[in-house]
Amino acid sequence: MSSSHYDLITVGGGMAASALAKCMAESGAKVLILEQETRFRDRIRGEYLMPWGVAEITALGLYELLCRECAQKIPWIDLGMGGPPREFTTTTAQQQPAMGYSHPEMQEVLLTAAEHAGAEVRRGVTVQGVEPGEPAVVIAASGKNSERISARLVVGANGRSSQTRKWVGFELTKEPNPFLICGIVLKGVATRDDIAFVQFNPEIGTVATIFPQTKGRFRVYLGYPSTMNYRLQGSGDVKLLFSEFARTAPVLAPFLTSAECIGPLASFEADDFWVKHPYRNGVALIGDAAATSDPTHGQGMAISFRDARVLRDHLLASPDWDRAAHAYASEHDEYFAKCHTAGVWQRQVFQEQTPEARLRRQKAMPLIAEDPTRVPDYLFSGPDLPMDDSVRARFFGEV
Ligand SMILES: Cc1cc2nc3c(=O)[nH]c(=O)nc-3n(C[C@H](O)[C@H](O)[C@H](O)COP(=O)(O)OP(=O)(O)OC[C@H]3O[C@@H](n4cnc5c(N)ncnc54)[C@H](O)[C@@H]3O)c2cc1C
Repeated sequence: MSSSHYDLITVGGGMAASALAKCMAESGAKVLILEQETRFRDRIRGEYLMPWGVAEITALGLYELLCRECAQKIPWIDLGMGGPPREFTTTTAQQQPAMGYSHPEMQEVLLTAAEHAGAEVRRGVTVQGVEPGEPAVVIAASGKNSERISARLVVGANGRSSQTRKWVGFELTKEPNPFLICGIVLKGVATRDDIAFVQFNPEIGTVATIFPQTKGRFRVYLGYPSTMNYRLQGSGDVKLLFSEFARTAPVLAPFLTSAECIGPLASFEADDFWVKHPYRNGVALIGDAAATSDPTHGQGMAISFRDARVLRDHLLASPDWDRAAHAYASEHDEYFAKCHTAGVWQRQVFQEQTPEARLRRQKAMPLIAEDPTRVPDYLFSGPDLPMDDSVRARFFGEV
């Protein structure tokens, strides 16, 4: 075992890690990124960044880079509620479009940018343990070699299955959601590439989405209750995905008539799970490692970029990194709680299949059809919008 010391080490080199590492390296910190993959591949992850997430990448100084290297703006969305599509740049709090990209391409762009900013990047290295303390220590393995590396701050950014949580003793709170989401990348989808489609079908509790990426590719998702008599998994289920997609959103089905599958197909649980106060004793968590949200609502990347931005801001504002990381963790608790509540409200009105939910819809849906602004704009404009009982009552048609 050899040893060395850094200001900051990230466990994982995904989007959250690379965004933070780039900013910290630019400001002069000695940064090390440890990423197990030697090449990123399609794991079926987020590729549609909400307008409030676009505001976060702007604040991180990543907007121009992503637009130039791998992303495209998607200013329009059709939520299947009748009427014309919505234009985000004039209707969101941030006046920003949404953005689309291939997730692995975006990861490569951000990791390369972090390296160019001065961060040391080691790929093919798996972190096997993290010891909190002053300094915190990471145990990194590559082939038969193992190394103890210390840092003022270790940042666990190793995704939804983060082991860092377990090694450091963070407790996970889990809210089960009896729902699955299945994704696939297609080419040959017969629609424009500047508009996204999201259609809930409350009667069968499903949701169908089409998100454009660059280079003529489209990410298609089907969200469905886990009580369905199937779990879509593997290329053999492409046909069933297409037919369930058509059952959910008949008006979108013609777009897929000549589409061809160009990536893996898999389903994921849609539970929310999170750590309260994601910092302790020299180890912070960011991105999905800190809080994983229901992918149906497409909030994960915006939250992950916000985590990177908020932690960066606190670290740059104070020489006392212990205090700075505690401040990040407190702020994280606040905005994630609001994202979580917004997701629960969405599910209760649009997705749940209980008799109570049907009654709720009978009350809420006609009013929403008359005035779509009754649906609070958290998913697109983010958790800084006011959230209180009056907003909920208006959404649920109780006023
Ligand atoms: C089906 C699905 C659809 C989604 N759709 C959307 C969407 O439309 N919009 C949206 O905003 N969000 C969406 N999300 C969520 C989004 O993908 C995540 O929030 C985001 O990828 C989190 O980024 P991250 O950097 O925290 O984690 P990850 O992207 O998981 O990156 C973690 C990195 O850590 C590495 N790693 C893990 N363990 C180790 C280790 N021990 N040692 C070294 N490296 C390690 C991994 O290889 C990986 O590169 C979706 C998620 C799913 C599952």
